[in-house]
Amino acid sequence: MYWDKALETLSPADLRDLQLQRLRETLRRAANSPFYRERLEEAGLSADNLKTLDDLRRLPFTTKDDLRSRGKEMLTRPLSDMVRLHASSGTTGQATVIYYTRRDIEAWADLLARSMYMTGLRPGDVFQNMMGYGLFTGGLGFHYGAERLGALTIPAGAGNSKRQVQLMQQFATTALHIIPSYALYLLNTFADLGVDPKGLSLKIAFVGAEPHTEDMRRRIEAAYGVKAYNSYGLSEMNGPGVAFECPEQNGMHVWEDAYLLEVIDPMTLEPAPPGKAGELVFTNLTREGMPLLRYRTRDLASFSDEPCPCGRTHRRISRIQGRTDDMIIIKGVNVFPMQIEKVLMALPEVHTNYLVELTRENFNDQMHVKVEVQQDFFREDLKYLTGLRKRITEALKSELLVTPLVELVEPNTLPAGEGKAVRILDKR
Ligand code: ADP
Ligand code: ZN
Repeated sequence: MYWDKALETLSPADLRDLQLQRLRETLRRAANSPFYRERLEEAGLSADNLKTLDDLRRLPFTTKDDLRSRGKEMLTRPLSDMVRLHASSGTTGQATVIYYTRRDIEAWADLLARSMYMTGLRPGDVFQNMMGYGLFTGGLGFHYGAERLGALTIPAGAGNSKRQVQLMQQFATTALHIIPSYALYLLNTFADLGVDPKGLSLKIAFVGAEPHTEDMRRRIEAAYGVKAYNSYGLSEMNGPGVAFECPEQNGMHVWEDAYLLEVIDPMTLEPAPPGKAGELVFTNLTREGMPLLRYRTRDLASFSDEPCPCGRTHRRISRIQGRTDDMIIIKGVNVFPMQIEKVLMALPEVHTNYLVELTRENFNDQMHVKVEVQQDFFREDLKYLTGLRKRITEALKSELLVTPLVELVEPNTLPAGEGKAVRILDKR
């Protein structure tokens, strides 16, 4: 049941001890990088005077801008010691680059093996990795992890939908790694080919790389006949394998032997208590080539330190609720895209996709929501559709406190891609 029982079930006190010891080692390493040497000196902090984990809070945060402008100065060793680089997908601007030593790659693979093993993946399983290979960490990260675990790994890559279905059939794939919006989109291809995913050998799906709701997960599980596990990571912290769901499917365990977690209120920058959503901040505890200290992820979630029935002691974080930078302000009200998805995906009449357009006319913000409706419901008469449109509008209004303009469209008519979904078009 455990990949590394001793580590995964360390008592909370022992886990903090291990973190403290590893944090000291990390500070020692980080002091070899020009960027952190300067930061540590300014804060008067060193491996020797760090007494508690909280002492780290004397150090300023590292931001995405720091990485963009001074990333290379964060290397603790010469570039010739690095064996790989990855870059973020650049969802929110210019991509940031992370360098890995050989040991970093191995440690990262081990975290992913541990994560997948936790959900029941075993040697003998056939793992189809449907994430982009290349600079994006989702592809190679899982690939190395699955091989380390001993699963037969199919490097399918992203897109090429028909081929994906054929691969699942030909090699009796048992586990998938897939972007949630693409998992729903792919159902159209299954339908076109007359193949029922539930009739294949699939058991497990790892879904991640983009925010999604509980309803979205349940839809994927129902359509594919799998258990879907949420997987969270970001290239700045290696990539996937930072936090992962266990069989309880109730929050993601942050691998705290490798990552020191802080959750902060993004306005006051003070620590947020358990259960309260805040911005995730991580410090690498084992990375050799380019450890980042107090990296602000801009991802919003809450944490829980309640014991988990699975026996793992590493604290859990909630589903990611959005990014601090994807909040939209409409008519003066703050809206997160996930709130919209939460409302829409809870409605059985809604098909797999939606699109939000923001416009401004005469200084007036307008939110236009295009919603795909299941074919069966679309066949109904106008009166029914008018009623449905009204219900969706009301449901969105009560969640968002803004009245959107809802338009119902036929299934599979909104743009969908194979990468991270883009569902907000801000034309203001
Ligand atoms: P980019 O910031 O350019 O998208 P990455 O490719 O490194 O860079 O993607 C990491 C980001 O993807 C995370 O910071 C987070 O916003 C999002 N993400 C990754 N996994 C999940 C997940 N399971 N749920 C929600 N969001 C996720
Ligand atoms: Zn658990």
